[in-house]
Amino acid sequence: MSSRICPDRVYFDHSATTPLDPRVLRAMGPFLSGAFGNPSSLHQEGRAARQAIETARVQVASLIGAQPDEIVFTGSGTEADNLALVGTVRASGRPGHVVTSSIEHAAILETCRFLAESGTQPGTQSGTESGTKITHLPVSSEGLVSTEGLLRALQSDVTIVSIMAANNVVGTIQPIEELAHLTKLHGVLFHTDAVQAGGKIPLDVNRLRVDLLSLSAHKLHGPKGVGALYVRNGVNLSPIVFGGGQERGLRSATENVAGIVGFGAAAAIAREELAEEAARLLQFRDRIARELSARFPDWYLFGHPVERLPGHLSFGFRGRERELGKLLAALDRDGIAVSAGSACSAHHSGEPSGVLLAMGYDAERARGLLRLTLGRFNTQEEIDRFLEILPGAVSTLTETDRPRAPRQTVDQAPVAVV
Ligand code: PLP
Repeated sequence: MSSRICPDRVYFDHSATTPLDPRVLRAMGPFLSGAFGNPSSLHQEGRAARQAIETARVQVASLIGAQPDEIVFTGSGTEADNLALVGTVRASGRPGHVVTSSIEHAAILETCRFLAESGTQPGTQSGTESGTKITHLPVSSEGLVSTEGLLRALQSDVTIVSIMAANNVVGTIQPIEELAHLTKLHGVLFHTDAVQAGGKIPLDVNRLRVDLLSLSAHKLHGPKGVGALYVRNGVNLSPIVFGGGQERGLRSATENVAGIVGFGAAAAIAREELAEEAARLLQFRDRIARELSARFPDWYLFGHPVERLPGHLSFGFRGRERELGKLLAALDRDGIAVSAGSACSAHHSGEPSGVLLAMGYDAERARGLLRLTLGRFNTQEEIDRFLEILPGAVSTLTETDRPRAPRQTVDQAPVAVV
């Protein structure tokens, strides 16, 4: 396998998206040309497409320990999140109450806003019914949701709890098994947005006891524009897209056959290589963290020091938060692609990260996050090159006014190196 997908560039932004694995592209190839049938057609072309989708369904289900008939293919991770929340609230037949965390991706937060503002009772006009009640659970300075906080929020009106498996900005992994168990004890549905966690850490829907789980192919070296929602058998869900009744009526539209085939192949590869790949990325990440500690006394880590995705390192340089844009541009010029927070937040550049604000950082620090997310084709040489280039890029920054005194736990982060 080639060590680099894109020669001359070092790509460290895998939480935004990942390069397509050449093996995935090979699997998709026939469905982008000769094998063009509509999976709903009964002739040979249609049956071949149907067969390919069902194979992919088995592959995606295997990644998370689900049954194939519990997988609904969607057009994205965002759509899977929308379907999970709107679909369960609609199916409940009442406005209900969604409990989520304050650091979710916009795909969850904006869906919650929609539910709160529009009321979803079938047959009523938007705004005429009271909307869904939304509770945003606070998180610790390391980005963890507490079981105590969840317990307090689990009132009798709660329809569903939705907590992400791993955060896209800081990489913190939530204790999903505990949170879901607690939720189930109250007879409430549990959804997890596993778009960042899928293929990177082991996920088993039965061990985790989740009812719904969202995935996205392009985060695990698959194609863009295809996602999946795991729906435990027996969970009552209403569709949000209406039409020909594909995907058991839960997601009408002619299926994106090549995309789904690519998702299946990507899921199978991720499952096969997960343990080895996680260990490799962890080693790279820890090496970078050690070098940062040795070379930059003013660096600090964002997120949980241990409970974090293997290839994820988010950090800042104390007193240089306002210079972050310059640093990103300097690295980019030198051939290194990293990110400031999430790709989605690029639409709101200059604004502090909502995730960091929710974790207790002040606005100054919440603007100063550099996110390095490693992936399958990164090599030791690329890590070396980054570490060679970084000091020069950082030295061009001028120190600005020191921000307000940081919280204790944040200051301790650099010593608790990952
Ligand atoms: N949820 C999380 C945690 C994400 O990080 C993302 C994408 O960055 C999404 C959902 C949306 O996934 P997609 O890009 O497939 O719509």
